[in-house]
Amino acid sequence: MKILSDPFNAYAITAEQPGPHVLIAAGVHGDEFEPMLAVRELLQQLSAGLLVGKVTLVPVVNTSAFVAGTRYGSDGKDLARICPGDAEGTPTARSADAISKLIHTADYFIDMHTGGILYDLYPLCGYMLHPVETILKSQQKMAYAFGLPVIWGTDHYAAGRTLSVARDAQVPAIYVEYGGGTGIRPQVIDAYVKGCRNVLRMLGMTTDSGGEETEVSYWVEDFIINSGHLQAKLPAPSAGIFVPQVALGKQVKKDDVWGHVLSPYGEEAVVLADMDGLVFMLRAVVHVKRGDALGGILPILKPGKVVIHGT
Ligand SMILES: [Zn+2]
Repeated sequence: MKILSDPFNAYAITAEQPGPHVLIAAGVHGDEFEPMLAVRELLQQLSAGLLVGKVTLVPVVNTSAFVAGTRYGSDGKDLARICPGDAEGTPTARSADAISKLIHTADYFIDMHTGGILYDLYPLCGYMLHPVETILKSQQKMAYAFGLPVIWGTDHYAAGRTLSVARDAQVPAIYVEYGGGTGIRPQVIDAYVKGCRNVLRMLGMTTDSGGEETEVSYWVEDFIINSGHLQAKLPAPSAGIFVPQVALGKQVKKDDVWGHVLSPYGEEAVVLADMDGLVFMLRAVVHVKRGDALGGILPILKPGKVVIHGT
């Protein structure tokens, strides 16, 4: 049932029996398309079979960004930096306001992303290391149930995000990142549909699972401040055509060859990994300008659960 049509469409699926209210959102960024299609799929799949509670689905949060097909809204703003927004503000501010208000009505929140047009990302589920133990525990359970290979818990200080609103409202929340670039990656849609369904099942809202058991390989809780900033680094030393030498999900060592930037006219520049870790982000658009970020490395050296304490 459509419950909202301005500034974005939102749909609610309500079971006859009362229970938790889960909010699932896509399109905080307008160039992240698989999450939008996953929400579309969930809307169909959940219309039958929800035992208790309510699921609210938002296919596209920042509509003006989606219309433009870009990360930013028509006002040039990144919704994930300006929450809780402003009901009387620019298009992105209005969308930020509306999603923030929806988060306040929810008991659990899932925010789905990709690397956008520019980057391809290794599947990752993140949450803030919430100071309230019960909320942190709920988020850990949601992240584990979602079942992506990397779980990434980071400091709880970031401002302006949907997750910042959830943190302040004491609503357990996770975000997921997977894929990106051009084209559609069906495996991302499948993983997101399955992950959301597994979270609903973990919460006792459905009986059928979204698929097989969870596949978590790496679980990091990093208390160092700013650890949550998933940074694209490794700047291109020159303009040209980026040819990567690494693959998502593989381990690299500092000074391993990350890739080359080739000029059609003969010049060649080499790019080296700047730390040891897991390749989690790789530039998908191969045409690069000098200084463009070519990827990112997470400080994950081996499978299993690792807690990194700040100083
Ligand atoms: Zn995003």
